[in-house]
Order: sequence, then C-alpha cells, then structure tokens
Amino acid sequence: MHTGSCLCGEITFEIDAEIRRFHHCHCRTCRKAHATVYGSSALVDEAAFRVRSGEDSIAQYASSPDKIRYFCSNCGTHVFARCDRDPDQIILRIGALDGDLDIKAIGHIWVSHKPDWYDIADDLPQSSEW
Ligand SMILES: [Zn+2]
Ligand SMILES: [Zn+2]
Repeated sequence: MHTGSCLCGEITFEIDAEIRRFHHCHCRTCRKAHATVYGSSALVDEAAFRVRSGEDSIAQYASSPDKIRYFCSNCGTHVFARCDRDPDQIILRIGALDGDLDIKAIGHIWVSHKPDWYDIADDLPQSSEW
C-alpha cells in the first residue's frame, strides 16, 4: 500500500497496487504544470487509486483535449492526471507520494521539448516523444 498527499495535506490518497513506469517527462505542459524543469510521474491502475480525503479540494485543468490534470485548489500541488487514451490508468505525480518507493525511474520522455538550459545528467534512456 502506498500513500500520498498534497503540500497542505488536504488531499490524501492511497494506492493498493504496483506503481509502474516511473519516468521523467520534459514536455512543455509538464514543465509549466509543475513549474519545474521536468515532471516525474508513474502509472497506477485507476481501480487501485483512492482519494481518502480532500475530494472537494481537487480542481482540474484540461491541459490538452485528451488530458486532465488534477491539483489541490488550496496549495496548488499537481497530484495526478488522466488521459482519455488510457482511461484505466492514473498518471501519478510521483513527488506527491509519502514514504519509500522500491522502483527507480526508467527514462526520460518528450526530450524534444527539453529547454537548452537544462542538461540531463544520467544514463537513463531518452525518447524524443513517448
Ligand atoms: Zn493541498
Ligand atoms: Zn509531460
């Protein structure tokens, strides 16, 4: 069982399944949504993802026609996203997890959007898009 929360603690969630495909995404929308150099996410089964508290504080933004990003309306933490292409998966913003994780990142995606002012400094596989 994994648990997580937003910065202010209003939104808490639990995941009763494996967390898979931890990756770093360099796309423009992740960069802006997280206001960081890149966004780090992983996939979890929708059926195993449960919001335990703060449902009323979850705001959403459609960052592209097929993707909705969910964030805390109180503190702004981007907690998870859903994509119409893969409705059975939650795209978990992995920094919202509390506690340890026994997997490591598998690679970088959307490196074609990466700004020149940031250099990737690890040997993980890189993909220009997906
Ligand atoms: Zn919050
Ligand atoms: Zn992205």
